[in-house]
Amino acid sequence: MNDNMTEKIVTRFAPSPTGFMHVGGVRTALYAWLFAKKNNGTMILRIEDTDKEREVEGSIEHIIKSLKWLGITWDEGPDIGGPNAPYLQSQRLDSYKKYAKILVEKGLAYADPYSEEELEIFRKKAEEEKRPFLFRDHRPLNPPAWDGTQPLRLKIVNAEKTKWHDLVRGDLEAGPEALDDFILVKSDGYPTYNFAHIIDDLLMGVTHIFRADEFISSTPKFIALYNALEIKRPEFVTLPPIMGPDGKKKLGKRDGAKDILDYQKEGYLPEAVINFLSLIGWNPGGEKEIFSVDEIIELFEIEKIHTGGAKFNEDKLLWTNKEYIKNKSDIDFIKEIKERNPRKDLTLDGIEKIVPIVRERIAIWSDISLMWQNGELQFFFEKPIYEKALLLPKGTNDNSVTAKHLLKVKEILENNVDWSAESIKNDLWDYASEVGRGNVLWPLRTCLTGRDKSPDPFTVAEVLGKTETLSRVGEAINQLNI
Ligand code: GLU
Repeated sequence: MNDNMTEKIVTRFAPSPTGFMHVGGVRTALYAWLFAKKNNGTMILRIEDTDKEREVEGSIEHIIKSLKWLGITWDEGPDIGGPNAPYLQSQRLDSYKKYAKILVEKGLAYADPYSEEELEIFRKKAEEEKRPFLFRDHRPLNPPAWDGTQPLRLKIVNAEKTKWHDLVRGDLEAGPEALDDFILVKSDGYPTYNFAHIIDDLLMGVTHIFRADEFISSTPKFIALYNALEIKRPEFVTLPPIMGPDGKKKLGKRDGAKDILDYQKEGYLPEAVINFLSLIGWNPGGEKEIFSVDEIIELFEIEKIHTGGAKFNEDKLLWTNKEYIKNKSDIDFIKEIKERNPRKDLTLDGIEKIVPIVRERIAIWSDISLMWQNGELQFFFEKPIYEKALLLPKGTNDNSVTAKHLLKVKEILENNVDWSAESIKNDLWDYASEVGRGNVLWPLRTCLTGRDKSPDPFTVAEVLGKTETLSRVGEAINQLNI
């Protein structure tokens, strides 16, 4: 039987706790998760905290919070444990020591006896001679016994061309200069990333490594280590770089490589962010842009991951979010409108009636806060205060003419029994067309809203109700007549 057919897929997301999660990290986690889900596999969250100098406090909680917000789950991890616990590399030092010793015993790792100063001299010399600095050119003939205080280095026995296959990039190769006696364990006793991740992937049974393209250049070293340990290596799945909106350089902070939880704060929906991120560097083919998470899992295939850089376009994220938010329930909208209301004294009677208006206008929840800030919603719940001049259509200055039009509007609307935007429009249309639509609809809209920009007067009148509408029209007539 083919081994691959029965092998359980195991993927992992292995972030270093060195700061917040940005879109790049999240996309790596997402693809690893999608692949595990698609194949009924296992997804592991492993925290690579062996670089104590770069560690940022609170990062682990932040990583977990970000993934949870997006709905990316794991079957084993620091917060839930699992058969391969612990999942923090700093708690797995014994495993690394064990494999380090195996390599020492095999004669494939040795203690680095040099001081920083001595290394610097080697480096300078290489620079002067215009050749790349390779530690293996200075490998000591009789290294001291490794006592744990010196760095431990891998001995590259065959510095040859390395060839390997990447499930996305295809066949890759690198020359012997990519191979050097790299450090496995530092003098502080912590393993390097290069070493620790290989031991952990082995012990955790990882079958597929999803990661960013910055690791391609180190892959020959990883392969040398797999060979030295005589272990089968997992498949490499290298994701395309995420490029800024111009498509020319990698996404930087200035074009939106921000903390993923900022999207949460701004009122993006996790399902929209997942949809958007899935399509940065992968596409199932076809024109469709909106996919549920289940659809994405169903369609996800490594073969469809792109090799070239994938553009990050925040406008597209906004568009995607709008597509999702418009399908949110009235209850969700009401909750957000209420919570974001800055005026706690305002009674939001009839709030359900403004849901369609808000739904049509927002792309992210925080747009509702902007609507409140801009005064786009208050007039639905309290009489607007405005200058009489606002009631006069542009180019007119005769109060009595506008008052006359509003009086006619009042008369017509008093007889309306339906009170729908449509019937209000129908009733007013003939008169407005006869005397000039702007002459009638402008003062009607401004007296209802107190604003020069707002939804159309028919919609507003419907939401306000007949009594309130007639009352506001009446007040405007009075003002104009003073
Ligand atoms: N700890 C590495 C990082 O955060 C992970 C790389 C990998 O997935 O192997 O960049």
